[in-house]
Amino acid sequence: METTTAAPQRDALESEIRRIGAELADAFPSNARHPLRALDTRAMELASGDQELKAALFRFVDVVPACRSLDDLARHLKGFLEEVPDAPPSIAVAMRMSNTRAGRAALGAAAASGVKHMAHRFIVGETPSAALGVLRQLWERGVASSVDLLGEATVTQAEADHYAARCNAALEELAHASREWPGREMLERDSSGPLPRANVSVKVSALTPLLRPDAPERGRLDAAERLRPLLRNAHALGAHIHIDMESLDSREAVLELVLDVLSEEEFRDGPSAGVVLQAYLRDSPEQLTRILEWARTGGRTPPLQVRLVKGAYWDHEFVQARQHGWPAPVFEVKADCDRNFEALTASLLEARPAVRVAVASHNLRSVANAIAFNRLSGGEDRDLELQVLRGLGDELQDALASRRFRVRTYCPVGDLIAGMAYLVRRLLENTSNESFLHEQARGTPLDVLLAPP
Ligand SMILES: Cc1cc2nc3c(=O)[nH]c(=O)nc-3n(C[C@H](O)[C@H](O)[C@H](O)COP(=O)(O)OP(=O)(O)OC[C@H]3O[C@@H](n4cnc5c(N)ncnc54)[C@H](O)[C@@H]3O)c2cc1C
Repeated sequence: METTTAAPQRDALESEIRRIGAELADAFPSNARHPLRALDTRAMELASGDQELKAALFRFVDVVPACRSLDDLARHLKGFLEEVPDAPPSIAVAMRMSNTRAGRAALGAAAASGVKHMAHRFIVGETPSAALGVLRQLWERGVASSVDLLGEATVTQAEADHYAARCNAALEELAHASREWPGREMLERDSSGPLPRANVSVKVSALTPLLRPDAPERGRLDAAERLRPLLRNAHALGAHIHIDMESLDSREAVLELVLDVLSEEEFRDGPSAGVVLQAYLRDSPEQLTRILEWARTGGRTPPLQVRLVKGAYWDHEFVQARQHGWPAPVFEVKADCDRNFEALTASLLEARPAVRVAVASHNLRSVANAIAFNRLSGGEDRDLELQVLRGLGDELQDALASRRFRVRTYCPVGDLIAGMAYLVRRLLENTSNESFLHEQARGTPLDVLLAPP
């Protein structure tokens, strides 16, 4: 495969972005529900309008994975909502209910049933085997997947072992089941070679209870003990392992862990693996330079896949820095983050074939920019992967698949309690006024949505 080097002219790029953006918008399924309408309208309104409520929900989702019962869940919910001054009437009623055990169970059950309703759109099944039907249907429609095992908080070694065992079992189940799937050339091969059908996304914070910013070495070594068997298994099964990126305080440990372990002799020729780059971080260009140096000098095959995202922990990073009086590590103006995302997209595309590129976004402008830049600089569509989240990117996913782009949908698998934390995070992320999906839902015209950031 040739390296693509000719950077496109600005004007040509802008007009191609508009053309591709309009073509994709046209291909959105007309009768599909809007992604944000799938979220409970009342919950959306409350969360968008009320900063205190939003803050309470943020604190609530942090404890949800540790809840062991509905009663427990309701007690915590009450605790967090008590901090909201001038709570809306629906919340006041919920709080009165949670004063008795029966009321708490009812509130927990109501929350659970509401979550269950929404969860169907965001979570593909409670277990990998329950998810296989949906994953196969997606594949048949030209959509690849990456399975994310939603987990309970990992605070003990036993929980980390349990998570690693679930990942291993999922790898095996997916690898075996996907052998029976029909051929889909676009999803199975790019210029660098074959692409695995089975793909699992893994969180390092779930692979070890020891991941702490003050002692990164301990967490890294402990996680490596569980990552190696996973990589061995993936290699034997011909599957892909993608390591997600979490908050900034674990970034160094995660990146070093992955690059170190993948450099070991045993993993020099597999499995297929990937990392995540977060464009909302001001220092992401330096991180990319570091990843590219590693990829260019290591000579590892298949190439490392880099998934470019904006980042899911913006509020956390911003608030934490403010509390400590530190400068924010994230961009504070959304357009700065979007421009950086486009610059990183260009650098990644130009770095092929040293890396495989995945652009993960629901923002039509960011996606159209990646496709346009790739084409105008001489790249092939099959050498750019586009990724979306299940439930939020369904329309974009269908539009991309109908135009024969390689699209991969990130599919969370897990039970109701784990799903609740995931749902509330997505809810909060998308009720931000800065969110593209929020803008789109408000009916902002297409040429404004596709304008340069
Ligand atoms: C397949 C897939 C995998 C993912 N994996 C990860 C992962 O491993 N780690 C991770 O962190 N995220 C991950 N994400 C989540 C991703 O970061 C969010 O979905 C994404 O940030 C939303 O961006 P967008 O381009 O879809 O939407 P947009 O609406 O264009 O962007 C929203 C994003 O902009 C940023 N932002 C918001 N306000 C501001 C502001 N005032 N100033 C600067 N920036 C701002 C935030 O990052 C926010 O999430 C993944 C997403 C997908 C689709």
